[in-house]
Amino acid sequence: MDFDFSQEQKMIREMVRKFVEREVKPKIEEYERAEMFPMPLVKKAAKLGLLGIIIPEKYGGAGADTISYCIMEEEIAKISAGLGLIMSANNSLSCTPILNHGTGEQKQKYLVPLAKGDKLGCWLLIEPGAGSDVAGIKATARLEGNQWVLNGDKIFVTNGSVADICVGVFRTGPDRHKELTAFIIESSSPGFKVTRVEEKMGINCSLTVQLFFDNCRIPKENMLGGEGQGFKVAMRTLNGGRVNIAA
Ligand SMILES: Cc1cc2nc3c(=O)[nH]c(=O)nc-3n(C[C@H](O)[C@H](O)[C@H](O)COP(=O)(O)OP(=O)(O)OC[C@H]3O[C@@H](n4cnc5c(N)ncnc54)[C@H](O)[C@@H]3O)c2cc1C
Repeated sequence: MDFDFSQEQKMIREMVRKFVEREVKPKIEEYERAEMFPMPLVKKAAKLGLLGIIIPEKYGGAGADTISYCIMEEEIAKISAGLGLIMSANNSLSCTPILNHGTGEQKQKYLVPLAKGDKLGCWLLIEPGAGSDVAGIKATARLEGNQWVLNGDKIFVTNGSVADICVGVFRTGPDRHKELTAFIIESSSPGFKVTRVEEKMGINCSLTVQLFFDNCRIPKENMLGGEGQGFKVAMRTLNGGRVNIAA
């Protein structure tokens, strides 16, 4: 079996290495010290197709494989784990659940701009009482007419204060596993509030925030993957994210 990298994977490593040397290395320390989101660098990464590197080209991504994605993360995280995490939250935690579970309409409306990097994404799973134990989620979603109404806290949200589009899991009934449901939420929705930006010991250019959903209203059609499928959406999404976090 040939374990060598393919020509395409080698080219991606070279391209990302150049981007990191020329664009990231000279600037990133300023963002780290100021605990500031490196938006200009993220926009440049988007132009290279890195915000949706594993998303098929027909949905605005670069259509590369998982090894290429890991190569990208390795090259970026050598210099900035924070920027690596920003890229990972968009690729694995925002684009991928929509690719895997979204309808054709949801993919056109939300996945394409996320994969192109025209919009930025975040992932809302964890809560004060639901970390490793995802089934402990308490934030609720209830259907009122043609809208879902979201209430509760989400914590440790990477990109949460700068994201345009969030993918989140909420409780739609009392059964711990079977009544969790995923949604696509625009951060401009009424009742979407950023309540705290964490002070961390490192990876400071990646902002980690707490959100509060205060009767936040989103369209009925923004449910992702079907009612009661949220636990499965969460587990599939996390499985996809682990390999590049390791990289
Ligand atoms: C920098 C950063 C970025 C993050 N970004 C996001 C994000 O974008 N979106 C999001 O939703 N979340 C995010 N998270 C949250 C992350 O997914 C959680 O921190 C993680 O799931 C663990 O949950 P917790 O912090 O509540 O720890 P806990 O679940 O409380 O675990 C604490 C410790 O207890 C151990 N433990 C837990 N349960 C058991 C058990 N039953 N038996 C034995 N040991 C146990 C764990 O292994 C761990 O060592 C982020 C976290 C960090 C640090």
